[in-house]
Amino acid sequence: VPVSRIRNFSIIAHIDHGKSTLADRLLQQTGTVEQREMKEQFLDNMDLERERGITIKLQAARMQYVAKDGEVYCLNLIDTPGHVDFSYEVSRSLAACEGALLVVDASQGVEAQTLANVYLALENNLEIIPVLNKIDLPGADPDRVREEIEEMIGLDCREAILCSAKEGIGVDEILEAVVKKVPAPPETVDEPLRALIFDSYYDSYRGVIVYFRIIDGDVRKGDKILFMASGKEYVIDELGVLSPSQIPVDRLRAGEVGYIAASIRSVADARVGDTITHAGRKAAKMLPGYEEATPMVFCGLFPIDADQFPELREALEKLQLNDAALKFEPETSSAMGFGFRCGFLGLLHMEIVQERLEREYNLNLITTAPSVVYRVHTTSGDVIEVDNPAALPDAGKRQFIEEPYVRLEVITPKDYIGTLMELAQNRRGDFKELKYITTSRASIVYEVPLGEVVSDFFDQMKSRSKGYASMEYSMVGYRKNDLVKLDISINGDSVDPLATIVHRDKAYNVGRALTQKLKELIPRQMFKIPIQACIGTKVIASESISAMRKDVLAKCYGGDITRKKKLLKKQAEGKKRMKSVGRVDVPQDAFMAVLKLE
Ligand code: GDP
Ligand code: MG
Repeated sequence: VPVSRIRNFSIIAHIDHGKSTLADRLLQQTGTVEQREMKEQFLDNMDLERERGITIKLQAARMQYVAKDGEVYCLNLIDTPGHVDFSYEVSRSLAACEGALLVVDASQGVEAQTLANVYLALENNLEIIPVLNKIDLPGADPDRVREEIEEMIGLDCREAILCSAKEGIGVDEILEAVVKKVPAPPETVDEPLRALIFDSYYDSYRGVIVYFRIIDGDVRKGDKILFMASGKEYVIDELGVLSPSQIPVDRLRAGEVGYIAASIRSVADARVGDTITHAGRKAAKMLPGYEEATPMVFCGLFPIDADQFPELREALEKLQLNDAALKFEPETSSAMGFGFRCGFLGLLHMEIVQERLEREYNLNLITTAPSVVYRVHTTSGDVIEVDNPAALPDAGKRQFIEEPYVRLEVITPKDYIGTLMELAQNRRGDFKELKYITTSRASIVYEVPLGEVVSDFFDQMKSRSKGYASMEYSMVGYRKNDLVKLDISINGDSVDPLATIVHRDKAYNVGRALTQKLKELIPRQMFKIPIQACIGTKVIASESISAMRKDVLAKCYGGDITRKKKLLKKQAEGKKRMKSVGRVDVPQDAFMAVLKLE
């Protein structure tokens, strides 16, 4: 196929608006994947992703399509992850395309993630094709949603495609629109090789598999290539296309999408956004947009059983081969023993890593509450980055602290505007803008400390809006605030993983709520347990857990065996997740208590 008949595009959508279902339909309709081998949602192929209904890892698929003009076109669909934690990956996938299908659920409308994705697509100068999905639903209102898209995004929606990915309506029209509206890649095959990496993963047999789009030049099996950002050189063992399974070929050229295997040892050598060029005939400049991964959220991971420390290290090392954004270093805590301080792109990334450590590596872990990265200006004039509240220098050594802020956009039905603004205000948000999208829905913009967002903001937003509001955020920079460290002691021992950094104005309330919450969560023991919250040496709140008097089973009034069994089982489950801190058993929940104060 000549370059003029290649189309590279992706699908952007808010979660659940039908991106994966549509992708499946496109593969089916073009005969790329036979009906019988069609697993539900072919493109999301990690179990975890399927369970959570999100796309984390990008994949790509090449489709042959015979258009109405009688010509055969090569359509490359590049899938994007659907979560704010991975917006860098999304932006690199979009940079590998000339166009995007903007899928909006016609029964819902424009949501926060729709907008965030559109901004990324516009930054990459993509041709955007609006698609109104789920028109089979009785509640679908394509006219209203068309207006919303025009109003919010300024995109002409007269030709928006009406679609039901579920029932296969509008799929042909979409394929035709991709052919007609998405520009062909430029003809730059004679220039030195530049290929943009939009995904990579570690394969234990072949090493890292790199997915890329060739922007300039061409590449053959056996070529010696250079990754321009990492500086690493490798020889290509295998070159191929994604259909969506891997099919080896001998040569790929400008405009095409494919993969290579080159016995690459770690994804860090071939990171998303890096540029592949020839080691012999180097390109003068890297492709724009490459960024190092910066972890935004940190937490401590401690094995419940101290013997599992070496296994935890090994597991983290293995995960890191496949995840260049995961950072970790050993951490020792007086209360918790040996563990690791780990850095993540965001909360979802953190949860994914924790879940994989437990599921795939059978580790029993205690996870401490997430923290953002603070910039501490010391009295000696240094600026140090602190990602662990326990490591904050003493008040006497600090001039001031800066914390990261995000621009947060919430889209909501108008009934919940009041309660959501109150939520943002409670989280120290600075109000920026309130805009009606239609008479019934609005967009609210705040600038909020990231630390307030990574706690339970998302859950609060969902519960206050009965699930109807959506949110997205992006970093805007660091700001100085009056922050203090709140220390927690249990039974006289300061428990460093429970320390948090809070605004001075909120410290008393947080201290009181936290000690009360810990009192609820920590099981009684045979002795009385005092719990205190302090700023420096000053105690600002205290509670105590009274000693246990009766056997738990006494509550069961003898007879009911099944109830007894249930109770014992529950206790046993609870025990699995306990860490002994001094003489007190502290359950996993307690380490997250600070997130659940409202
Ligand atoms: P994604 O999160 O954007 O990938 O969305 P999915 O493709 O996973 O779809 C989310 C849900 O919407 C699934 O339960 C789909 O079956 C359903 N869905 C997708 N497209 C349609 C459609 O056209 N009509 C209806 N009624 N449901 C759809
Ligand atoms: Mg999906």
